Amino acid sequence: MGIFSTKLGIDLGTANTLVFSPGRGIVLNEPSVVAVSEQENKILAVGNEAKQMIGRTPDSIVAYRPMKDGVIADYRVTEAMLRYFIAKSLPKWNFWKPEVIVSVPAGVTSTEQRAVIEAGIRAGARRAYVAKEPILAAIGAGIPIYEARGNMIVDIGGGTTDVAIISLGGIVASTSVKCAGDKIDQAIADYIKKAFNLGIGDKTAEDVKIQIGSAVPLEDELSMTVKGRDFLTGLPRTAEIRTNEIVGAIENELKKIVKAIKDVLQSTPPELSADIIDRGITMTGGSSLLRNFPELIYRRTGVHATVADDALYCVARGTGVALDHLDVYKKSIISKR
Ligand code: ADP
Ligand code: MG
Repeated sequence: MGIFSTKLGIDLGTANTLVFSPGRGIVLNEPSVVAVSEQENKILAVGNEAKQMIGRTPDSIVAYRPMKDGVIADYRVTEAMLRYFIAKSLPKWNFWKPEVIVSVPAGVTSTEQRAVIEAGIRAGARRAYVAKEPILAAIGAGIPIYEARGNMIVDIGGGTTDVAIISLGGIVASTSVKCAGDKIDQAIADYIKKAFNLGIGDKTAEDVKIQIGSAVPLEDELSMTVKGRDFLTGLPRTAEIRTNEIVGAIENELKKIVKAIKDVLQSTPPELSADIIDRGITMTGGSSLLRNFPELIYRRTGVHATVADDALYCVARGTGVALDHLDVYKKSIISKR
């Protein structure tokens, strides 16, 4: 098919949607947001444009994050998102309907999977497939998923943490918890409100997390100045925040993530557990980039963890690899039948 590939892999994340095209790489990276007018229930904008509307729109416009809780709740909205992302990702002079693979959360039912395939077709795909996100993350992380050995993938995104043990191309044990980057940001905002009487926005909380946050206390702490609004005076003010305060503020959220990992480890057959001790845990997703997260997992579980290369792009890259080798991965890919 040459460079004008009409294959698109779509990672519909809770925070970000990425589109990967074999031969071209990541061709789109936008927030998973849809803006809807409340009265006519019309979809007004998708992606970057919709995100810019959050907090700046009249009450009659609602910005949805349809994937936020890791479930595809509203298929009309899902279809609109797919349509927009597909159209935007195609090369300019493309006359072919693309072949599309969409990642879905590990816990979705087969009815939901078929609904996503239908949404993909209605959104303009020639053929649509779905594959489970942990499998795609593993493929994207370079794990040989068809070996008769256990591999643990922990994908920590914006809305959900997904933990899965993969062996022979299938998911042997898995769990998903609604605790990931967004909850960590919220815990930081709550802490700054309580400790400094300062109200900060979601974006500021995320900046604090990325710039100075850590999963375990640091000997040489980082610090930063945050800007917010004083709760008493209502006026803008700043405060100086240090790493180890953040470690304490987010501790409870991280505990929930660690518990999800422990739960899956405890439900894993002994032979596969032995593999996981040997091979360690592979972490993917944006929130796996939190400072020292692998170290915390090692301390709490005794199992080594490493962050995959390009952790934010593993699922998207996995869709591309799967699309290019549909025959190899057919056992892990669901198509319409
Ligand atoms: P999803 O797949 O659910 O859309 P992503 O894998 O795109 O989520 O990850 C998004 C999350 O990753 C956000 O909560 C974001 O704040 C977080 N994130 C991105 N980079 C970092 C970083 N360097 N440190 C900590 N968290 C990060
Ligand atoms: Mg993701």
